[in-house]
Amino acid sequence: MSVIGYDLGNLSCYIAVARQGGIETIANEFSDRNTPCIVSLTSKERSIGSAAKTQIISNYKNTISNFKRLLGRPFDDPFVQNEMKDLPYKLSRTADGGVGVRVPSFFSEVQRRNLLAAARIANLNCLRLFNDTTAVALAYGIYKQDLPAAEEKPRIIIFVDMGHSSLQVAAVAFNKGKLKVLATSFDPYLGGRDFDRLLFNHFADLFKDKYRIDVRTNKRAELRLLIECEKLKKQLSSNSGRMTLNIECLMDDKDVQGAMTRTDFEALCAPLIQRVEKPLRTILQDAKLQSQDITSIEIVGGATRMPAVKSTIAEVFGMKVSTTLNADEAVARGCALQCA
Ligand code: ATP
Ligand code: MG
Repeated sequence: MSVIGYDLGNLSCYIAVARQGGIETIANEFSDRNTPCIVSLTSKERSIGSAAKTQIISNYKNTISNFKRLLGRPFDDPFVQNEMKDLPYKLSRTADGGVGVRVPSFFSEVQRRNLLAAARIANLNCLRLFNDTTAVALAYGIYKQDLPAAEEKPRIIIFVDMGHSSLQVAAVAFNKGKLKVLATSFDPYLGGRDFDRLLFNHFADLFKDKYRIDVRTNKRAELRLLIECEKLKKQLSSNSGRMTLNIECLMDDKDVQGAMTRTDFEALCAPLIQRVEKPLRTILQDAKLQSQDITSIEIVGGATRMPAVKSTIAEVFGMKVSTTLNADEAVARGCALQCA
């Protein structure tokens, strides 16, 4: 029997498998270790992952992405109502007040049960569900041969995971063969996609003035711009100079062009960057820690690649952040390890 660890992200999934002597992240049928969390339905077939992603523009009404956060919530939940505005597909109220997707559709304790039900449907025998940060802490533990002995003072590590839709923080105490979660904190509504949305709003307004087109009235144009904004955001993580955004025939046969520097991007996103601080300060309080008690700050999740996020974390804890762990794969690897 093989045991796998599965990181279900809002944006993408990773699967790790424990094999003799190690943990391996496995590739999908496209030889890609990252599988988009997307399902696309047509009247004839259902495609998932990378295959579904190719239909995100052409079949946007029946291509379901960003659904993790809707799991198990009532339709009237303000979060659902807010989320719904940005989704290209339609949500509807189910008979019991839950959230349904208006295509051939599927989808606390209720959320976990939903997820377990999904695993059963996929013929997977789910051994355990982990919180993301617990899995990351487990993945960290395997690499460390030099942890303090059981009776010694534990080594304290802070884990920060900022992904597509949320920010999670955990303070964990390690001794040899033992790990204790001292405290956790969250901003459940802050992730990489919020930065994309800010860029989107900036360029949508700009193009309205400059080209007289309103991408907000055209779903296809809106999605294309959003995808380019995410690309630009990533480019600005590795380049500080002026980066351009070009889209041909975005709307009304118009080619558009925009540009931004990292300094401008950080100014635009300052309110989001500020929000990163709060859960970090909360964890210090809740775990009753001072920066000298902490050995290192391990960061994972795609959004921690933004230099401003990194420097904010470093500033709050008064030390450099460490990237020992694979930012994308640590959750899945931790799960695989624990169940092996
Ligand atoms: P969540 O943990 O919120 O449920 P997830 O696990 O799917 O979601 P991740 O894969 O950790 O999320 O991160 C995805 C996010 O990271 C996306 O918003 C993506 O744009 C962002 N991201 C990835 N690489 C970079 C980069 N180089 N610079 C800035 N942002 C990046
Ligand atoms: Mg994640």
